Amino acid sequence: MNAAPATLDGSLDSLVAGVYVSHKGLADRAEALVRAAVTAGDRQLADLGRLVLAELHNRGGRAPEGIAQARAVLAGTGDRIVVAHAHAVVAGGLWRIGDNAQAVRNAYPASRMLHPGDPPVLRADHAIVLALQVNDRRIGGMSHREFRVAQELAEAARVPALILANLNNWAWCSYTSGDLRTAADLVDRMRMCSERTGEPLNASCADTMARIMLETGDPAGALALIERAIATSEPTDSDAVPNALITLADIQRRDGNVGAALDTLWACREMAARDRLADVDALARKMIAGCHAELGDFATAYHEMVEFHEAWTVRRSERSEVMARVAHAQFAVDEARRTTERFREMAERDALTGLWNRRRSDAQLADLIRTPATQRGPVSVALIDLDHFKAVNDTYTHAIGDMVLCRVAELLAKVGGHAGRHGGEEFILILDADPAVAARRVEGLRAAIQSYAWTAVANGLSVTASIGLTALRPDDTARTLVNRADELLYAAKHAGRNRVITG
Ligand code: GH3
Ligand code: MG
Ligand code: MG
Repeated sequence: MNAAPATLDGSLDSLVAGVYVSHKGLADRAEALVRAAVTAGDRQLADLGRLVLAELHNRGGRAPEGIAQARAVLAGTGDRIVVAHAHAVVAGGLWRIGDNAQAVRNAYPASRMLHPGDPPVLRADHAIVLALQVNDRRIGGMSHREFRVAQELAEAARVPALILANLNNWAWCSYTSGDLRTAADLVDRMRMCSERTGEPLNASCADTMARIMLETGDPAGALALIERAIATSEPTDSDAVPNALITLADIQRRDGNVGAALDTLWACREMAARDRLADVDALARKMIAGCHAELGDFATAYHEMVEFHEAWTVRRSERSEVMARVAHAQFAVDEARRTTERFREMAERDALTGLWNRRRSDAQLADLIRTPATQRGPVSVALIDLDHFKAVNDTYTHAIGDMVLCRVAELLAKVGGHAGRHGGEEFILILDADPAVAARRVEGLRAAIQSYAWTAVANGLSVTASIGLTALRPDDTARTLVNRADELLYAAKHAGRNRVITG
């Protein structure tokens, strides 16, 4: 586990939980957190703050933006916690645009990548997302297991808003799957949780509870609950209040109060128009048609129904258009990531030979030296310099000299380990081998260079190399290690070239 608990301080916890409670001022707080984290150089916290902003897009009716932002975070990080949370946010966005299948594919890793000991709020949040998405529109019965896991984690996180959110989803899925008994039990649990903790029921919770109470014979309780929620509760999803209005209209109509239901539905349509909520608007239209039929006005009812069908058809094609656009954006991110990887790789390769360049070799050595000896095993370093190479250029042209460098690079790469071009006609080999094994392999390289069929490259050409080989010592820095290899190489030159000197 990395440094998450230390950096995931109260402010992030409260932001992640705040998404479930109230969105008032949340975006400003998340932006301030990102700025502070960037200033402090805390990339993990900055990315998690960005994901809060993405989640606010998801819930504010701007899921494509939310998904794109979360995917951008995902593409630029290797931090396990950030990756997991980005998956959760992407899952939430995809679910909102109606791409359930793809959403679940993100929800699974979001949950699985977190372990015991990771921030409880994130673990609970991800489990809640997974439980809902596994069960929403599930064919052939519910799976309660995921809800139970999420419930345990939400309770362990001790955040009432998360506990209520999961109970809400659980109750809703039970209700839509026809399991009214479980749904009613869960409504009781929601009520008790709200009373015990003082956490108010948001519009979405109240909507679920009212729906279930309506079906289980408590229309008066349902009416009181939904009216209070519409008047007072904080919306945490842009469609929460309009959906509650639909429920309210349903209660009013069943109560014989068709006129009031129509007023409620028109208020709902106004809100849906303001926040561009096409789904809710279509639903309201259908109910308006039903109300007119109930009043005996079949001409208006028919007219509204036709409008509903049109709206629904447009909505369906819009939905698939949004899904296609979001899928395309993911393709672009994948492409960009591959391109970025390729560019990074190219920046670390030598253009002529394709071996690692000096910058990469230096970084590799620094990495190895930083790693505790127990974790990396033995390290040997060889510096290889071609003998009288200037003469090769002078005698056979620079182009032949280049070919020689490429052939030598191929022989080097065959030795295994890290093979780099250190500059000019000098190469480096970093081997994870003890001195005796390294010496055998490097001597093999020297012999391979000498015996290579150079005459096929140029008539009369012969090439040899001098090599200094040394093993990493406990007190070495990259500089002392390479300097020692260089001195041994120099000694090899002085001793007559075409040899390995070990030290
Ligand atoms: P020594 O045995 O002492 O190493 O002699 P040397 O001639 O190999 O050493 P010196 O350092 O005098 O010359 C190195 C030569 O390598 C000079 C330079 O032109 C050549 N060289 C460096 N980089 C390249 C390259 O990319 N391509 C070619 N063809 N030649 C290169
Ligand atoms: Mg040389
Ligand atoms: Mg040289």
